[in-house]
Amino acid sequence: MIKISDLEKIYRTEEVETVALNKLSFNVKEGEFVAVMGPSGCGKSTLLNILGLLDDPDDGSFLFNGIEVAHFNERKRADLRKRNIGFVFQSFNLIDELTVFENVELPLIYLGVKGDERKQRVEKVLDKMQIMHRRNHYPQQLSGGQQQRVAVARAVVNNPKLILADEPTGNLDSSNGNEVMQLLTELNEQGTTIIMVTHSEHDARYSHRIIRMLDGQTVTENILV
Ligand code: ADP
Ligand code: ADP
Repeated sequence: MIKISDLEKIYRTEEVETVALNKLSFNVKEGEFVAVMGPSGCGKSTLLNILGLLDDPDDGSFLFNGIEVAHFNERKRADLRKRNIGFVFQSFNLIDELTVFENVELPLIYLGVKGDERKQRVEKVLDKMQIMHRRNHYPQQLSGGQQQRVAVARAVVNNPKLILADEPTGNLDSSNGNEVMQLLTELNEQGTTIIMVTHSEHDARYSHRIIRMLDGQTVTENILV
């Protein structure tokens, strides 16, 4: 599903050049659950931004389902992104002014799904994430664990093929963290490919494979299953 080869990303300011990705290469097959680990500054966020079609690389190849997307323009990236990719962040990134229902509805509005079908699909996913009883609450009225369940609901409501998760349990206690990891595992078992950046060896053990990065490169891979 994903094949990146010799990916390069360099941040340039007036004085310095920072090589964030240095000829990074790896593949992810459809249905895999991959953890990406490495010290702060090794390029994980840069990688997720490129995989999520939020940013483009300076050099190298990024094949997404066989299509070269490395140099897609912003409009084509956005189109591919909203149909295929769901994001889960460390800090949930819900919109405080919108209710739980409205937050989860948003990706479907962007996709142009009609009102009745939107309602059905949002309710189905809120039910699955066991957060239906909070549908009319605002994010600030929920616990961290509940907010992350809403964020996962928002990430999956458009049935994405790929979920990108950036430290999804980073702001959760271990019990809520395990619950979120369990949800991601279930989504993976139903066929969704997952790439998760984490600092947690515990969370990484939910994955099939750990890609370890250092200085913008892959250093090792551990196969877990
Ligand atoms: P980002 O690139 O998303 O800003 P960072 O790599 O800076 O993420 O780290 C995210 C969080 O993980 C921070 O709160 C940081 O303190 C913590 N963190 C960073 N490195 C480690 C580590 N090696 N082990 C545990 N926690 C870490
Ligand atoms: P990680 O997520 O592993 O902490 P990042 O991808 O955030 O790593 O950063 C990789 C390197 O690129 C770091 O040296 C960081 O300081 C640098 N970097 C990240 N974003 C920018 C930016 N917008 N401008 C300049 N340098 C950046």
